[in-house]
Amino acid sequence: MPIIVQKFGGTSVADAEKIMAAARKAIAAQDEGNQVVMVVSAMGKNTDMLVDLAGQLSERPPAREMDMLLSTGEQVSVALMAMAIDALGRKAVSLTGAQIGIRTDSSHTKARIQSISTERMQTLLDEGNIVIAAGFQGIDEDFNITTLGRGGSDTTAVALAAVLRAASCDIYTDVDGVYTTDPRKLPAARRTRQAGYDEMLELASLGAGVLHSRSVEFAKKFGVPIHVRSSATGEPGTMVLPEGESLQNPVSGAALTKNEARVTLSGVPDRPGSSLQIFTKMAEANVPIDMIVQNVGAEGRAEVSFTVVQSDLSATQAAVAAVVEQIGAERYSIAEDVAKVSVVGLGMARQSGVAMRMFRALADAGINLRMITTSEIKISVLVEESRALEALQAVHDVFELQRPPADARPFRLAPPSPAEPSDAEPSDADAVAVVEHLAGMEDLRIEEVLLDESQARITISEVDDKPGIAATVFEEIAAGEIFVDMIVQGDGAGGRAAMSFTVPRGQLEAALARTEEVAASIGGAKVTSSPEVAKLSVSGIGLRTHADVAIRMFRPLAEAGINVEMINTSEVRVNVIVDGARGTEALQCLQQAFADVMR
Ligand code: ASP
Ligand code: MG
Repeated sequence: MPIIVQKFGGTSVADAEKIMAAARKAIAAQDEGNQVVMVVSAMGKNTDMLVDLAGQLSERPPAREMDMLLSTGEQVSVALMAMAIDALGRKAVSLTGAQIGIRTDSSHTKARIQSISTERMQTLLDEGNIVIAAGFQGIDEDFNITTLGRGGSDTTAVALAAVLRAASCDIYTDVDGVYTTDPRKLPAARRTRQAGYDEMLELASLGAGVLHSRSVEFAKKFGVPIHVRSSATGEPGTMVLPEGESLQNPVSGAALTKNEARVTLSGVPDRPGSSLQIFTKMAEANVPIDMIVQNVGAEGRAEVSFTVVQSDLSATQAAVAAVVEQIGAERYSIAEDVAKVSVVGLGMARQSGVAMRMFRALADAGINLRMITTSEIKISVLVEESRALEALQAVHDVFELQRPPADARPFRLAPPSPAEPSDAEPSDADAVAVVEHLAGMEDLRIEEVLLDESQARITISEVDDKPGIAATVFEEIAAGEIFVDMIVQGDGAGGRAAMSFTVPRGQLEAALARTEEVAASIGGAKVTSSPEVAKLSVSGIGLRTHADVAIRMFRPLAEAGINVEMINTSEVRVNVIVDGARGTEALQCLQQAFADVMR
C-alpha cells in the first residue's frame, strides 16, 4: 500500500476545528487506499509564545532546556490530532520524535537528523493506524530532546517521507502554493504549478518562507516529491520536483530580502589566505555569510564584500574590525540601507543575456546596483532599501513572471517515474542498503568538483557608481554574441565600483574591445584582463546550511599558495576563479578537501 505523508503547519492546527479538518484530510487519504503518516507543528503561535516565555526568565536560556520547552508544542498537537481521529472513528497513534527514533546530533535548537527508524511506524501503519508524528524534534545519543530549528517540521515531514519511501509528501499550509514572488509584496505574483528542487532551495534561502531549506535538501537528496498546498481549500497547489515548470523561461521566481547589511573590506592584501582569514573569523563569530563578492585587486589590493543579516551586525562589526587589523587591510565599511533582489531559474543556465535583461530593467527604473553576484541559476543584486520594492516589480515585469510560461508542464501529482519502486518486498541486501543510505541523513554531500579551463577574465574598475553601467556593459557584450559566465560587482573606494566577469577565452579579444569602448564612453574607467583563468566549482547539497564549506575550500587553496580572484556562491554551488596556471593543482586541493563527503 502506498504511504502518504501529510504535514500540517501551525496555522493549519490552530484550533479544534482546524485540527478536525486536518484529521478528515488524513482519513480521506486513508480511504483512497493509502497508509497515512501525519506530521504536525505546534498549534498557532505556540512556539513563539514559548520562546517569549523563556526570554522573560533568561537572556540566554540553556539550549538544552529550550529544546525541552519547545518540543512540548508539538506534543500537544499530536495528542489532540490523535483524539480527533479517534473521535472520527479511526485508529491513530501519536508519537514524539524520540518514540519514532529520530536520532539527531546534539546541537540543540538546530540539530541535524542522523537516522530514523521506521519499524515502529511501519508496524502501526500495517495495523491500520494513522501515525501522527511530532514535527521538528528528535533525540540525541544521550536521550536529550533536540529540535531541528524554527520551521523544522517541514524537514521532519520530508525526512519521514524519504525513509518510508512515501509516494508523496503533502505540506498543508496557509498559502496555496509557491508563488513567483511573495504575493503580499507584489499582488501580480502568480502561483506556479511546479518548481525544481534547486529553484526551491535558492528561494527558501532567500526567505521565501514557504518551505524550510533543509526539507528541500532532503527532498532533493532522496527524490521525495513535495506538494505544497492550502489546508483551507485542499486544492492542488505547487509540486516540487527535480524540474521546474518551464524549460524556456530563464527565470521562475524573484525574491526580495530586506534584512541584509553589506560589509566591505577594502585594501585587502591580494595574496593567498586573505579570504580564508576573513571567513574563518566570521565562522568563529558564528555569523553566516550570504552574498560574497571578491574582486580582483588593483596594485596588489583586493576588495571583499559580503552580506550578513542585520541581526548579526554587532558580532559582525567586532569580527570584521579584528580581521582588518589581522590581515592588514586598509578599512571596512558597513551599510544597512540595502536590500537584495534575486531572480532564480533553472532555465538561465541554458540562456545568455538573462543578467543583462535584469540589469537593464533596473537601470531603466533608475536603480543603482551596489553589488552583483551570479551563479548558474541565480542572479542577486543589492539595491538601496528605499527602492527595493520598485526593483522587485521591475524584474518581475521584465521576465513576465505574472504570465504562465507557454511551455508550462501539465500539472501532475507525482514525478514522471518513481525514483525507487516501493512495492517490492525488501530483501536483506536492501535492508543493509537502506541503513547505509540513511547514515548521516543530513550530512554535507558534494556531488562534484569541476575545473573549467576555458575562460578568461575581464575587470572594469573605477567605474562611477551610478545606474545603468552594468546594463550597458553587458548589452555591448551580448551584441557581440559573447556568453558571459560569472559576474561579480562590489563597491569600490570613493563611490567607484569594480566589476569582473568571465567570457570564453576565444572571445576575450572581442569582449575586451567592447568593454574598452564602454569604458571610454563613460570616462575614467579602467579595464584589465587575464587571458587564462581557471574556474573551480564545487556543487552539492548543504553548501550553505553547513557553515564550514567556505573554510574547507579556502584553507587548502591558501595553503597551496593559490590566490582566489573571484568568488560566487549559491545554495547548490560555490565557484572560485584562480590563476589559470594553477587550475589542475587547485582541482586536486579541492578534491582532497571534500574527499570524505563526495558521494
Ligand atoms: N513549531 C516549530 C516552529 O514554529 C516548528 C514548525 O512549526 O515547523 O518553528
Ligand atoms: Mg512553517
